[in-house]
Order: sequence, then structure tokens, then C-alpha cells
Amino acid sequence: MTTATPTPVLPTANLPTAKMVESSLDPTAAVLDEIVPAGEPWMGVVRKGQHLRIVDLEGNQAVDTLFYSAATMEERYSASDTVRAQGNLYLTTGTRLLSNEGNAMLQIVADTCGRHDTLGGACSAESNTVRYALEKRHMHSCRDNFLLALARADCGLGKRDLSSNINFFMNVPVTPGGQLTFADGISAAGRYVEMRAEMDVIVLISNCPQLNNPCNAYNPTPVRLMVWDAAGAPGS
Ligand SMILES: [Zn+2]
Repeated sequence: MTTATPTPVLPTANLPTAKMVESSLDPTAAVLDEIVPAGEPWMGVVRKGQHLRIVDLEGNQAVDTLFYSAATMEERYSASDTVRAQGNLYLTTGTRLLSNEGNAMLQIVADTCGRHDTLGGACSAESNTVRYALEKRHMHSCRDNFLLALARADCGLGKRDLSSNINFFMNVPVTPGGQLTFADGISAAGRYVEMRAEMDVIVLISNCPQLNNPCNAYNPTPVRLMVWDAAGAPGS
């Protein structure tokens, strides 16, 4: 038996790519401040120069997110272009979220979590069935959330428009052998990620309702969305 040193809450030594940066924006100056309930979708527009912050209110929540250009929704977030351009699999401060046309859609400007995934994809009725059990098929999923939000918006987009998404706050470490592992979350209550929009973007979120894996600690929880105007956002 050894007398182990307690592990820090956020061992950044284990996250060599993490760039922990806090935002200086004043929450009382936000022009949008909304709670997305556990398991629910959200869709809205963030204008060029505005800052969007997503706050993991209770910790270990996965926030599945897609971005589309507001000007033409054919232009959309591209995980492969983003990963290739930065030469790293994980998203953190400084990451430019690129579109399928190679344009910067947003840039992460603050991050107190340290790691966000863009490899693990979104849960669906099909993946719940394959990964867990046949009787999980009816369970609420991120893909259904995305489709519900798109249908409510009546924007003409559907299943074929769901590309590989970002999972904010989700920990999917890649092993030295190249395997993906859905690990316990590294986020905690109050940690957040903040992005500056580089173009007008439509934000499509599924606040993941998954109950079958540790990506959200088997317990979906609410998140807080905040938006600041460009004038109140230094550096924009
Ligand atoms: Zn999900």
C-alpha cells in the first residue's frame, strides 16, 4: 500500500493538449442567457463577432453540436478539416472550427474544461441498439434531437444533413493503438467553452440524453447557453 497523492480535480498533465483559458466577458452583459434542459435540443443563430459560451452546469454532460453557415446551410462544420488543419484530434482554446469549404466558422477563445471530442459522433436509435441492447432502440437520442430541431425550424434539412458533430465536454481519448475509448468525463460543474463566430452560424445542439454510457455520467443534466454581442467581446 502506498500513500498516494490525491489526484487534482483537473489533472492537466494528463491533458497535454489542453489550453485552459478563462473568459473576461461579464455574464450580466450577455444578450442571450438560456438553460437547455437535460436531454433537449436547441437551435439558434450566432452572428459574426458574437461570442457563444456553453456552460456545463452540473458536470460531465455531453453537448452534441453542429454548425451551419446561416448564409448557406450547405456549408457546415467539418470535423475532418478541423482536425487536419490543427494537426490534433482534440478541441480546445485556439481551435478554429472549419467548414467543409475550409472556412473558419468559429474559434474557441476560452476553455475551462480542456478537452472536447469531435470523433465519437452522436447517439442514435441505431447505435443504442447495436452498442447496448435491442430494447434501447426507443430511447431518446441525439440524432432524434437534431432531427426534431430541424423539423421545428422547417429549414428543409434532414438526416442526410447531419455530419460528424462536436461533443463538447465529452472525453473520448484515443489510445496509442488508435482505439477510441468513451471515458468518464473530465468536465465538472461550471466549466465552460466559449467561441467567437467568424461568420453568421446556425447552432444545432442536442444536450445528450444518453443513459447507457459514461459520456454524461449516466445522468443527463442541463447546460447554460450565453451569447455576447461583438461590441462587448474584446478582441473581436
Ligand atoms: Zn447523445
